[in-house]
Amino acid sequence: MGIIRNLANHLTVIRQSLTRNHNKIIMSRQLHARRTEGVDNNVWVEFAQLAADYKAVNLGQGFPDFSPPKFVQEAFVKAVSGGPLMHQYTRAFGHPRLVKSLAKLFSRIVGHEIDPMEDILVTVGAYQALFCAFQAVVNEGDEVIIVEPFFDCYQPMVKMVGGKAVYVPLRPKVEGSAVLSSGDWGLCPEELASKFTPRTKAIVINTPNNPLGKVYKTEELQVIADLCIKHNALCISDEVYEWLTYDGTKHVKIASLPGMWERTITIGSGGKSFSATGWKVGWAISAGKILKHMKTIHQNSVFHCATAAQEAVAQGFEREYELFGAPESYFQQLPAMLHHRRMKLASCLESVGLQPIMPEGGYFMIADISSIKVDFGDESSKDESYDFRFVKWLVKEKGLATIPVSAFYSPEHSKEFDKYIRFCFVKEDSTLDAAGEILKKWSQGQ
Ligand code: PMP
Ligand code: GLN
Repeated sequence: MGIIRNLANHLTVIRQSLTRNHNKIIMSRQLHARRTEGVDNNVWVEFAQLAADYKAVNLGQGFPDFSPPKFVQEAFVKAVSGGPLMHQYTRAFGHPRLVKSLAKLFSRIVGHEIDPMEDILVTVGAYQALFCAFQAVVNEGDEVIIVEPFFDCYQPMVKMVGGKAVYVPLRPKVEGSAVLSSGDWGLCPEELASKFTPRTKAIVINTPNNPLGKVYKTEELQVIADLCIKHNALCISDEVYEWLTYDGTKHVKIASLPGMWERTITIGSGGKSFSATGWKVGWAISAGKILKHMKTIHQNSVFHCATAAQEAVAQGFEREYELFGAPESYFQQLPAMLHHRRMKLASCLESVGLQPIMPEGGYFMIADISSIKVDFGDESSKDESYDFRFVKWLVKEKGLATIPVSAFYSPEHSKEFDKYIRFCFVKEDSTLDAAGEILKKWSQGQ
């Protein structure tokens, strides 16, 4: 009897100890997934809020403060009042009218017959197209080459799939004050070649580039294409600003180079094409054998995108197909208008001693702030990058919102590029004038 009682007591002690340990494990278990670690800071979240808090003149986040063209607005209104089906789900991989209109226009540009049902995926903005691309092609441990400066989301998206980002910077080809155009920045072919290894799965490029405004020339794209082919790697080409080039610069699609259609994922944005960033209609175009894996990610996450917005963007592309290259085309009119805004911003920056780098394309202009001496006052933030401190000071003290350029660099290289800030010039003349006034007063010591 005594032995049995002893045994029972012993078992109770073991059970209590196990329960305690189990509770300890449960209590100490993190309730978040590790993939959310190290990717929690976001420059748009931080600086959009700051601009709003200080009611600043906003040349920060990249969105037009003017309306989209009448024809797409009317198409959207017509879609919304166009009967019950416009309010219901449409085809998961893209509204049929939209994928057909995209295929028609881009087949002409890429020089390849694009199949609307096999080769196109419509997404919630270019963001989701990028997300699906990384999810669909990158395995844990794969390397992805990212050209700096880069649109910031590439880095967390690669990290979240367990990939390894490998950075290669665009460098000014001439040093010092002679660097006046984004065309003066380029990749060193030898340096780029040295980044490709047997683990390289893809390279990400962005042309026209955010934030620099660089538009890659055919010869530059050919160097990238040759390396992709040699190493059997993919190219993810973010071309959301494809219609916006200036001073006769031509946008070239890397997918149109020989041997590249079957290894390129081209990303586009209806928001950027028609100045309607809030509609969040984007797409990826690629060979069906690659694109089908992106469809798998899409069908298991988002599934459908908003029908009426897709219908409106489809009608916009149908119109642009008919008017392609004509002066009435929005893809001609928008860059012509933005060329003036860009010149206005450049002369305004120059007049106060800020040296801009003239962009060949896109929404943005970066300027060198190293000549400006500012007493930030606030010692608590002195470990932060110089450009972050400068941008915060500018919004708080002067009421002008911009974006720090080191946010577009890897931690390894951000220190080298922390003396530039980014201005968005896709704004009303009155907004640019208000920014000009702020800068003028500041330069006069007011
Ligand atoms: N790529 C780049 C280079 C961008 O600047 C942006 C921001 N518009 C995006 C992708 C995301 O575009 P969307 O608003 O269509 O999601
Ligand atoms: N692409 C825009 C920019 O670069 C906005 C990005 C965002 O709001 N997440 O400013």
